[in-house]
Amino acid sequence: MNTDCVDIVDKINDAVAQRVGQQRYKIWFKNSTRLIVEDDYLKVGVPNLFIGGWIENHYAGQINEAVAQILGRPTKVIFAIDPELFGSQRRGQLDSQAECVSRSTNPSVRQRRTLTERKHQTLRYKLDNYVVGSTNQLAYNAARTVVAEPRTHFNPLFIHGGCGLGKTHLLQGICNAVTKDRPESHFGYVSGEEFTNQFVLALKTGKLDIFRNRFRQLDLLVIDDVHFLASKKATQEEFLHTFNAIDTASRQVVMASDAHPKMIGQLSESLVNRFVSGMVVKIESPDFATRCVILRQRAGEINKEIPEPVIEYISENIHGNVRELEGALLKVVAYASLSRFPITMSMAHEALEDHITRTDPIVHLSDIESVVTTFFGLTPADVHSSRKTRTISLARSLAMYLARKHTTMSFPEIGRFMGNKNHATVILACRKIDNLLKNCQQVVRWETPSGHREMHIEPLLEKLESTIHR
Ligand code: ADP
Ligand code: MG
Repeated sequence: MNTDCVDIVDKINDAVAQRVGQQRYKIWFKNSTRLIVEDDYLKVGVPNLFIGGWIENHYAGQINEAVAQILGRPTKVIFAIDPELFGSQRRGQLDSQAECVSRSTNPSVRQRRTLTERKHQTLRYKLDNYVVGSTNQLAYNAARTVVAEPRTHFNPLFIHGGCGLGKTHLLQGICNAVTKDRPESHFGYVSGEEFTNQFVLALKTGKLDIFRNRFRQLDLLVIDDVHFLASKKATQEEFLHTFNAIDTASRQVVMASDAHPKMIGQLSESLVNRFVSGMVVKIESPDFATRCVILRQRAGEINKEIPEPVIEYISENIHGNVRELEGALLKVVAYASLSRFPITMSMAHEALEDHITRTDPIVHLSDIESVVTTFFGLTPADVHSSRKTRTISLARSLAMYLARKHTTMSFPEIGRFMGNKNHATVILACRKIDNLLKNCQQVVRWETPSGHREMHIEPLLEKLESTIHR
């Protein structure tokens, strides 16, 4: 990188720090991200999906502004996993991140956006450029039905599937299509987190009526990442009422989550029953042919000619999720524009060498982590922290055990990924679960807001494993 680039990156970093504040900059950006300025976009390299998702959800606006200010033009910002950052964060920083995540559920310390503001916000994704293949056909058809029929015969529509498989794309696509086809309809698009924050705020400020009216009068309520409601008992009850009110009025609810309703630990039973009473569809990783179509489409969108063998090479090697697939494509494009040669197979090999050998296990481990934490109603940050409550310890041990069993990662690698833990901690965790399994009567216990739960270790592991292997 030449000095100009270094200079620009420093300036962008400063501008981001100014906007988010030094404290947050230190927690989320310093040592956690690596900015790379390309011809027509800015890449934000992040150590893992969780941190990438958090930064994107909370600070995308500030990053966009900072880049536009320094480069003098609006520039597309993309997030991608940077293998070099993986494991590079210090324990202290991970702890601060963990604390930040748990505090964010407390609305008094969080900046809030209201639903009314959302109305003026344009949602990014459209159904028209959603590539349909065998693994998402059902979800796509259901989405189209919701757009075409104000009253479907299924309510709610619940879409679940792994990270980066296109759930948000579908949900926002539905909202945009409804706005276009039925402009008189009122839709509300919120994340589970926003719904929770708004509810808690309404409760605290005695404005529950306004909150209820706002949500219950919608023709279409779309809630993304609904697993966030796990472990929030009062919010769940309120949501159930909201849901019933909308359903009784023959209006539609659409939701998305990382996990099947029954796999979201700490959701109340009545809510789970409600969720599965509608239509539950799963999105799986796209097959090879679909991955190729997605890549061709993306290449078209950024106006780049990519030779067919290169498309196939990327599709063959990156099969986890669509976000990674896009990241790999952009990496090859970036590589070509730096070297100023047209894209060739050998260039793609070179550009993706690290990516292909190193990101696979990382993505896999974050999948495991997200399955386990969702089940227990925790966040990955809880598991990364040093807290030792019964539930967190159990979740941490299970995630470590499953990581060892289902990835090729070593004990030290797993420890480093899961909050810079010592390899001995990982070995102990694995041994603990092994011992439990040897004694088949063994029951594990954990806490939920609605009380104490317990399960035999074997069926518990089977349940978790069935979700990991999508
Ligand atoms: P999720 O919400 O499931 O984590 P997103 O909807 O955020 O995933 O998708 C991640 C990225 O992949 C987005 O840029 C999205 O546009 C893209 N993507 C996912 N699935 C598809 C698809 N079938 N066709 C086109 N783009 C897709
Ligand atoms: Mg999403």
